[in-house]
Formats: sequence, C-alpha cells, structure tokens
Amino acid sequence: MLNLDIFSKAGHSSWALYKPLDTLFDCGEGFTLLSGQQFSMKRIFISHDHLDHTMGLPSLLKNRNYGKGDNSKPLEVYHPEGRLRDIIGFINQIFPERERKFKLNFIPLAPGDEVPLGKNKSIKAFRTIHNNFLSLGYVVTEKRSCLRDEYKGWDIAQLIRDGLEPKDLSTYYFSKTLAYTLDAYDFDWANVAGSEYLIADCTFINKEDRRPNAKNHYGFWEVHELAVQNQIKNLIAAHISERYSFEHVSEVVGKFSGLKVSIVNNQKINHF
Ligand SMILES: [Zn+2]
Ligand SMILES: [Zn+2]
Repeated sequence: MLNLDIFSKAGHSSWALYKPLDTLFDCGEGFTLLSGQQFSMKRIFISHDHLDHTMGLPSLLKNRNYGKGDNSKPLEVYHPEGRLRDIIGFINQIFPERERKFKLNFIPLAPGDEVPLGKNKSIKAFRTIHNNFLSLGYVVTEKRSCLRDEYKGWDIAQLIRDGLEPKDLSTYYFSKTLAYTLDAYDFDWANVAGSEYLIADCTFINKEDRRPNAKNHYGFWEVHELAVQNQIKNLIAAHISERYSFEHVSEVVGKFSGLKVSIVNNQKINHF
C-alpha cells in the first residue's frame, strides 16, 4: 500500500500526506483534521500559491507550535521560486519568528531542483502548466538494488558459496515511487513516466467541460490517455470538481479497463 492520506476538491482544498517520508504535498485547509500528523511531518512541498493549496499553512503551523505533541522538530516548506511571497509575509505577521518553538524554513525551488532525502531517496521538482505562472510538480525517486542481468536464473546461494560477494551480484535502478501533479493543465510527461503512483489533476471529466482557451486543469480522459502512453502503474485522480458526484465519476471511470485508477472522493479524507 502507498500509505497516503489525501483530501482534494477543486477550488476548495487539496493536500496529500505521504507517510513513509513524513512529507506533505500542498497544504489546503483541513489538514489538521488528521490529528497528530502535524507533529511528525518533516517537510511540505507546495505546488503553487492558489489558496486551495496553501491556506491550511497558518492553522498547521499554529497547531504544531501550540498543540499537544512534539513541537521541536524543524519544518521545511518548499515552494516555486518567487511564487509564495504574499503568503510567507502573512505567515510572518501572524506567526512571527519569536513565537516559534520549531525552526521554520521556506525554501524556493526551480524546475529541475532535487531535494535529497537520506541516502537513497529524493524529491525532484518539475515545471507544470497552470495558467501562465510557475507551478511545480514533484516526483519521489528511490534508488533500489536488483540482481544483475547476467545472474538472472542462476542459483544465487550457490554463487555466494562459490565465493561471489552479494555486492558483485547486484546493481541498482531508480524507481519513481510517487508523482504529484496538482494543479496542471500540461507538463512534460517524461518527468513522471513509469511512476508507480501518479496523483493527477482531473478537475474535469471531459476536456470539453473546461472553459474554451483555459490552460489550468486537465480532464480525466486526457490524463488517462497520457497515463497509458507513459506507463503509469496506478493513477490517482484528484482535484475533482464539485460539479460531479463521486458515484458519477466512479461510473464513468468504471466503463473502461487498461489502467488501475483510484478516484479521490472530494467529500472526505481518502487513504490509499
Ligand atoms: Zn487547486
Ligand atoms: Zn490552482
């Protein structure tokens, strides 16, 4: 299981907590309903400054500072460079440095920047198209070891008895564990190709539901086609507009096969 908690409703609020890395993607309102998680989290990656992706920050920070729990851990908030100035200014006013029991760092990222997490993992930022300003998608990458091709089908225990070291038998590859692309109308899919899980903007069902000439959100069928082309293993359809009921989206999505799809119900916190 992915071990992800996500709430996402277009224009209202979006956030996704990836528990294996204590990492939050976006911080719309309502995150603190997940009691206790505000203390364990280590970092937040903000996609863009729209309020449905950022307005949970003030309550999260205050809650982490004054709530009952470990409020000493530093917190890093990564964001698209030049795109969070007003919100950081507001936070500095309502939650000034002298009040803080933990170290709070805002760190700007440009497309292509990579944040290392320990020895084998990293989160890389890439450009997504959402109107005409910089927004970022993120991809979690893990370095994993595997058996070298030349030893596949051999008796490994025997090879080790014959004197080969385990390190001689293995090589490594990079796996895209999770990609996060809210909100986006378009991006270079090479950044997410082959991902085990992709959280994608499916605000609309059909692209015709989008306003003509708008370049802000995908329709589900556009994402589906691109996800198949780019060998996404599990698609998590999120940021769904309130105009569609969960039952309606489930019925539409249930009509085809070819890709494993989960739908984020925009009426509750979902666990995947
Ligand atoms: Zn949004
Ligand atoms: Zn947006």
